[in-house]
Amino acid sequence: MAFLNEIIYLDNSATTRPCARSVEAVTRSLTENWGNPSSLHRLGMEAELDVTAVREAIAKRLHCTPAEIYFTACGTESNNTALLGAAHKNRKRGKRIVSTAVEHPSVLETLKRLEAEGFEVVLLPPEKNGVVSVDALNAAITPDTILVSMMLVNNENGAIQPVADARKRIKQVGAPALLHCDAVQAFGKLPFTAEKLGADLISASGHKIHGPKGIGFLYVKKGVVLPPLLTGGGQERNMRSGTESTPLIMGLGGALADLPDLATQLTKMTELRDYAVRRLQGTGVVEINSAPESLPYILNISVPGYRSETLLHFLESRNIFVSSGSACAKGEGSYVLKACGFDRRRIDSALRISFCRDNTAEEIDRLAEALVAATQKLRKA
Ligand code: PLP
Repeated sequence: MAFLNEIIYLDNSATTRPCARSVEAVTRSLTENWGNPSSLHRLGMEAELDVTAVREAIAKRLHCTPAEIYFTACGTESNNTALLGAAHKNRKRGKRIVSTAVEHPSVLETLKRLEAEGFEVVLLPPEKNGVVSVDALNAAITPDTILVSMMLVNNENGAIQPVADARKRIKQVGAPALLHCDAVQAFGKLPFTAEKLGADLISASGHKIHGPKGIGFLYVKKGVVLPPLLTGGGQERNMRSGTESTPLIMGLGGALADLPDLATQLTKMTELRDYAVRRLQGTGVVEINSAPESLPYILNISVPGYRSETLLHFLESRNIFVSSGSACAKGEGSYVLKACGFDRRRIDSALRISFCRDNTAEEIDRLAEALVAATQKLRKA
């Protein structure tokens, strides 16, 4: 598909383009090393070695042990496993679960399930900058709280949540709570270790970092034992039955091996995002919704007076790909921007621009020009 080389892809929080190293690793697994890691013969052992190497690579990044990493099919599965597992494990110790109003649907919908089971769920609203206040967090985490779930980076506006403060408060009040962190938009972008984050459970996903879709992992701190979501053959040390998806695990490994130094890349992304803010504000038609302290990989903007979907398709006609809110929100007004206190006009005209290491300032120029053209050609909503 030659056209793929001509597109301006600014929807990297929805998914990223798999890197060559990831594609090669998937292919090698499918064509050469396709044994079942559970088989006792040589082919099985060779596949097992591949899986172990990727587990070790993840552990190295999080500064944890490989035994604390469990492969799943996606970030959604990691979040479901963590929340359902932690709540059910702790059910005899209390009912209170604390989370935020801006979590991904894979957390919010799972919390609704737990609420229907009788758990008490408290969702903290963010401030205008998208971040939940530490005071509100401290007030919400009580001695009877059994689970706290807080994303590290929000998928719509890039806001970075005070996860380590949740750990401090859990300790301070002596709550039995396990701390879960949805790090799907942070892993491979924002440098962090499991210990510094302070979470017992951390979710991540391969396709957000130039790996394949259908592979994720859950970090489970040593000593924490959760009831599994999938039962069966006992793979992943009984945490996640089902034959390991060796091609996708290998693809994740390829993506990890290709990651640049995260701190250096973060500086570059901050420069690119700051350029985008200046350039887009300079058009006179764009308002910026992400706070400057947000992760620079995600920039939420509005073009007041024009509907998100209409803008999105106008940009698409110029081969520029962005998202209206989050890819999951499919046409609904963003509950994240709403929770941050933005008005209807701003919400209805919001676009999420999300970057990766391949984006350039020239692409931002094209975006800015296209948005100006959109306001000249499209009828106001
Ligand atoms: N959590 C966050 C913050 C996300 O942005 C996403 C995907 O967009 C997910 C979880 C779900 O990840 P996956 O697509 O791997 O299920």
